[in-house]
Amino acid sequence: MHQSIAYAIAKVYPESHHGICIYHLEQNLKRRKVKSEVIKLFQTAARVYRRKKFDLYMLDIAKVDKKTYDYLMEEPPERWSRSCSPRRRYDMLTTNIVKSMNSVLLEARELPILRMMDFIQVKLQRWFYKRRNEAEGTFYDFSCWVEEELKKKIDLAFTLNVFPVDSWRSRVEEEGITFLVDLNKRTCDCFQFQFDELPCIHAIAAIEKRNIKKSNFCSHWYLKESWLKTYERQIHPIGHTDSWIVPEDVKSQIVKPPHFKVPPGRR
Ligand SMILES: [Zn+2]
Repeated sequence: MHQSIAYAIAKVYPESHHGICIYHLEQNLKRRKVKSEVIKLFQTAARVYRRKKFDLYMLDIAKVDKKTYDYLMEEPPERWSRSCSPRRRYDMLTTNIVKSMNSVLLEARELPILRMMDFIQVKLQRWFYKRRNEAEGTFYDFSCWVEEELKKKIDLAFTLNVFPVDSWRSRVEEEGITFLVDLNKRTCDCFQFQFDELPCIHAIAAIEKRNIKKSNFCSHWYLKESWLKTYERQIHPIGHTDSWIVPEDVKSQIVKPPHFKVPPGRR
């Protein structure tokens, strides 16, 4: 990210955390001709959930390629490794909304401004309608994506041994390793539960044992309710200009083009 953009975001959103895209970091390593085995170690180090494991993988990198280790550590790991990130749900990969919009508007860019506005309105109206319908149509308490994510884990969860400790906590065994799940705090020793804000396999095992709803243990961002809320507003067609009721104070305004000086070299 450009330094001045980073400053601006930190100023406007003081509580935001500046993370780095590990995909791009990996591209940088490839450009630096880093060996593929070291890149694999980096990929794992960035994605593991436990800090101890992160340290181990980084130690491995330092042993075989000190230069790459130093290069990676130039950026604080809080910015690019899940286990060190002070924020949760670090691995949510979303498409940059501005980029998506730009590519959608490519065909409309050549249109006169009002036609372009029409185009945007129709596009958004369609998107909102489609997504709202999709959200309304789901039978689950959470989004379809979450349903898929939980489904992937459920078979494995049923193979685990669960030993309840008290009304909230359970000891869950996976391949001889014991994980303590606390459903009240929504934590697990594997750290996936608290980092993803979705139940990990151990938490699912503990939840199933108690016969409670899994949706009680997902972040509210994943629930059907939040999904619906995102698309609850309608984008209305603007209708024919003859039918517009324009207030006097708007009518009397004269809109002039902005004062704009083309900077040198930008023509
Ligand atoms: Zn777990």
